[in-house]
Amino acid sequence: MIMDKEISLAIVGLGKIARDQHVPAIAATPGIALAAVASRNAALDGVAHFATLEELLAGAPEIEAVALCTPPQVRRKQAAAALAAGKHVLLEKPPGATVAELAPLIFAANEGERTLFATWHSRFAPAVEPARTFLAARTVRSVTVEWKEDVRIWHPGQHWIWEPGGLGVFDPGINALSILTHILPRPFFLTSAELAFPENRAAPIAADLVFEDTAGTPINAAFDFRQTGPQTWDIRIDTDAGELVLSSGGARLAFDGRPLVEEKEAEYPAIYRRFVELIAAGASDVDATPLQHVADAFMLGQRRIVEPFVEA
Ligand code: NAP
Repeated sequence: MIMDKEISLAIVGLGKIARDQHVPAIAATPGIALAAVASRNAALDGVAHFATLEELLAGAPEIEAVALCTPPQVRRKQAAAALAAGKHVLLEKPPGATVAELAPLIFAANEGERTLFATWHSRFAPAVEPARTFLAARTVRSVTVEWKEDVRIWHPGQHWIWEPGGLGVFDPGINALSILTHILPRPFFLTSAELAFPENRAAPIAADLVFEDTAGTPINAAFDFRQTGPQTWDIRIDTDAGELVLSSGGARLAFDGRPLVEEKEAEYPAIYRRFVELIAAGASDVDATPLQHVADAFMLGQRRIVEPFVEA
């Protein structure tokens, strides 16, 4: 939808994902424009700069919306402040450091008639909606998830990821859970888990998870941050009709070896189109289910201490 007037947006936390995805996606989305950045150590040429969200809220009252691209541990406070100042709020994933902190944000958004959008970027990957449609008419027999990446390549210098609330390997793993909770026809729940914690870190480097759905269908997931060489972001679903494989993080879909979808990632432009639509409709979109599954893994999971993780 193209609106008469562009929504004036600020990015908060100009780090890896903000630079790689948010800035170009905003530029490509009608109805919204990047008007400011709030980041302590980074700025963009030609865009108004503030060191913090507080300075932005005080110094740029014309800003209508903020995209919070900071680590999850600081996002609740920022979201609460932005909503209190009358801004629409887009949250990067995961939407927070705890599940319960979302309820007051939803309440504040409703009270203030502002949009709160908790994004799950992987749900916007091109093969995800086709997979959901395909599975709606099939019986699922089993699901296997392999989400294995090299933390040194994808999260260089991101100390927050290893701190409490940073989620460790669940930072990428929650993307798989955001896809599964969207495409599987039945709700599912965790029955056991094993989490591997480096002895010098507060967050897991690997996790093996066992879920089942309400029909007893087994769902197994293996997340690992220690993958070198080829990287794996795959979901295999055995159905009564054959095997569906969602690979490359949701960019590709194949059924019994035949490709159904093979597209380049275009997740973030779709996220911003949705944000513009939500604001126009006066609606919010907050689904905590993937974060709930991660919280369950921390609650139920057996912990194993493994060798220290040293980045350099
Ligand atoms: P990042 O590179 O560390 O960027 C986050 C930025 O937030 C930092 O550059 C920093 O900017 C600011 N920040 C850090 N700590 C802060 C604090 N304590 N208070 C206020 N601001 C702080 O991280 P990222 O990879 O962009 O990830 C950010 C979020 O996006 C995470 O939730 C992640 O899960 C999600 N995400 C990341 C990716 C990816 O591939 N990297 C993909 C999808 C989603 P200043 O120092 O300039 O303030």
